[in-house]
Amino acid sequence: MLPLFILIFQLLILNMPESLILKNDISEIRRLHRSVIPFAEQNWLGKGSHCSYCGSPFLRGESWPRTCDRCRYTSFRNPIPVAVVLVPVDDGLVFIRRSIEPRKGRLALPGGYVNTGETWREAGAREVLEETGIALNPEEIQEFMVRSAPDDTLLIFGRARPRGARDLPAFQVTDETTERVVLPFSPPDQAFRLHGDAAAAHFDQTGLQNPRPRIGVAAIVVKDGKVLLGKRRNAHGQGTWQFPGGHLEYGESVEDCARREVWEEAGIRILDLRIGPYTNDRFEAERKHYITLFVTARYESGSVRRREPHKCEGWAWFRWSRLPEPRFLPIQNLMKTGFRPDGLSR
Ligand SMILES: [Zn+2]
Repeated sequence: MLPLFILIFQLLILNMPESLILKNDISEIRRLHRSVIPFAEQNWLGKGSHCSYCGSPFLRGESWPRTCDRCRYTSFRNPIPVAVVLVPVDDGLVFIRRSIEPRKGRLALPGGYVNTGETWREAGAREVLEETGIALNPEEIQEFMVRSAPDDTLLIFGRARPRGARDLPAFQVTDETTERVVLPFSPPDQAFRLHGDAAAAHFDQTGLQNPRPRIGVAAIVVKDGKVLLGKRRNAHGQGTWQFPGGHLEYGESVEDCARREVWEEAGIRILDLRIGPYTNDRFEAERKHYITLFVTARYESGSVRRREPHKCEGWAWFRWSRLPEPRFLPIQNLMKTGFRPDGLSR
């Protein structure tokens, strides 16, 4: 069909009286289109081949913007904006596996062209929904980085607010996507190198590819000569006994963190808080490194209960000389220092 059209077109042009067409146009057309096949291969009627005002052909390979020799109108051709979204889920990012060219079968971040009338955030949220089934609010997408890509697109990378895997809807295969995966690193051999760079920059920032020590707070709660411990589950040090505690949050005092964690985990109130020793705890297998700050306190009120059963198998009170085994690494390290809280009998 196409060769036939081209042949008819060519016969028309080449048999047209020269007076109807400017001389330089027809010589150019003749030079370029000596036979049907090269004509098709040249894609001579492709995007930007002609003046967008008067339709005169440009010379092939001319740089942009192009000024028409005939009408002096200047035609522009510009990079196309593409919105790409990093969607953090737990410790990872959402990637999709492409089922279309280019780079079919490879992983990429969700994203696509910005349509006229859309903000880049709206385009990003729409593409994420289409490709992953995850609904974002466009306003939650923050600017992350902007890169010019070799295919003449302008990649605008945004980052959505973090989510938990439990919050994600089930994935359904789409016309463009065969798979949705959450990976805790920027995988090799992605469809687009700049997507990989953006993902790596994200993990660099969140400290997962270049991890730094974190700060944990552990509360040694004393009641009737005993201290409170719980057995960990679903976390590093699973199956070991530990004091109530957790991460020091941004802007929080150490004492406030101890009060909060004891309440959130065990449902009790504490008083007479005192800053205790710290330990330097390297969990080799889990590739985690904590500085654990110990706080001693007295039990004040409330009855102990498992408020976070997914994180704790149960709480119990123990004498200092009879702390249960196995012990969470920070407790092992604390014991090596010979520390013992005030007011405890052996
Ligand atoms: Zn023109």
